[in-house]
Amino acid sequence: LPELPEVETIRSDLVPLLTGKRILSVWVADDATRLLPHSTPELFALSVAGSTIEALARRGKYLVFTLSPQSSVLSPRFWIVHLRMTGRLLCRAASDPPDAYVRALVTLDDGHELRWSDLRKFGTWELADSLADLERKLGPEPLGDMFTVEDLQTMLLRRKAPVKAVLLDQKTLAGLGNIYVDEALYEAGVDPRRVANSVELAETTRLHAAIRSVLEQGVANRGASFSDYADASGAKGSNQLYVRVFRRTGKPCYTCGAMIERCKTGGRSTHFCPVCQK
Ligand SMILES: [Zn+2]
Repeated sequence: LPELPEVETIRSDLVPLLTGKRILSVWVADDATRLLPHSTPELFALSVAGSTIEALARRGKYLVFTLSPQSSVLSPRFWIVHLRMTGRLLCRAASDPPDAYVRALVTLDDGHELRWSDLRKFGTWELADSLADLERKLGPEPLGDMFTVEDLQTMLLRRKAPVKAVLLDQKTLAGLGNIYVDEALYEAGVDPRRVANSVELAETTRLHAAIRSVLEQGVANRGASFSDYADASGAKGSNQLYVRVFRRTGKPCYTCGAMIERCKTGGRSTHFCPVCQK
């Protein structure tokens, strides 16, 4: 599933292609029922058609389009996209060959279109006048300057859940998912099953640095394509080639040679080295 590095790759690809472009029209397939949880295809199209895309930001795993204000009453400032499992935003020339599983289409004024492809149909598009509701759902950005070791320590000390589950909680820290949590805990040498409030300051310091470094590596490698993830041009990322534990069950640890193990933590499949992670 797309996590922070995958969503950030799509964002940075789309920014030069979409900024300043005007939305002419929107089409949504009749079977895309989950895509617009608070709207209808007609209402969504009416609300955004005519708007210019002023900016495209990322918050956690969400993409946030800022739309130009219009005179109509239906004039939301923000279009918030979550890719969920298999959502893709592909920027294509209108004359390009069709893509598979396209459930929605945004036509732009420069001859391009933004195609929404979603095999599993769990992705969502929402419109909002402010980002307050989104902010309430999300903890700090792990790559932001504001996220400190002390913040992470406070988050972990408050919780008795496994450290893996705490790091997956978007309200604690925004943008991490199964791949990057497993990788960060390995790099920090912390067992994912540990109760969060038992993690000591020296370990938290390592974990803070590890979270940032695995995410930065993920962004540098344009995301991890273990299954469906692709960037805004449909190309796969390469970070799946650089992971140390994720989906390496039964293979030797790169540090100590022990076999990587798999367990369930907080309902999620978890990969770890039983020797290196204490
Ligand atoms: Zn090891």
